Amino acid sequence: MAGFLLFGGSFDPVHLGHLIVSSDAAEQIGAARVVLIPGARPPHKQGRTLSPAAERLEMCRLAVADDPRFEVSDWEVHQPGPNYTLHTVRHFRQTLPADTPLYWLIGMDSLVELATWYCVGELLEACTLVTAARPGFEQPDLARLTDLLSPAQIRKLQQYVLQTPLIDVGATDIRARVRAGRSIRHLVPEPVRQYILERGLYCGG
Ligand code: ATP
Repeated sequence: MAGFLLFGGSFDPVHLGHLIVSSDAAEQIGAARVVLIPGARPPHKQGRTLSPAAERLEMCRLAVADDPRFEVSDWEVHQPGPNYTLHTVRHFRQTLPADTPLYWLIGMDSLVELATWYCVGELLEACTLVTAARPGFEQPDLARLTDLLSPAQIRKLQQYVLQTPLIDVGATDIRARVRAGRSIRHLVPEPVRQYILERGLYCGG
């Protein structure tokens, strides 16, 4: 059974960085599907209020509508309380055939914060954590995680740090550009750009 690459995030908005690295990572590991999973702000990453879930979901749908390798899941946005990746992975494990390889994709900026994640040891047993390169973020010293992870888990984490294209695009910058009246053409898929402009997203701060 071909694997599923699960890709969670705020996706506020989804952008070409997300799409290019997830597509490349899926090819490298041989996953047949990429599932974009917009969620609430991760419990370890509090701060700015997110755009409504319905809008972030719709932008994800628009972004991948013409690419059959991708799908979008609304599971996290309908869960009460904080979204823990472990719970989401367990949900997909229950809904897919038992032999389906499950991968969870993060960018290097998220790997840096891994020690703050909920039940990270259990998460690494429930799925294979795959890390994509991201400009500005060096790979952390994974050997420092010996308090949390077994040597085998650390080796596997390391093995799945992929050399994906370095795409210097981020949602914070895109929101700032919209606020400043600058172009976001070529940073998000065109239907997403149109949606942002039509709805007046990110104009107010
Ligand atoms: P924000 O600027 O609002 O924090 P973001 O651009 O980092 O947003 P998120 O939706 O928070 O996007 O990211 C979801 C996941 O995608 C995270 O694991 C993040 O590391 C990864 N990611 C986002 N942009 C890139 C990129 N350009 N290259 C590699 N990974 C990325």
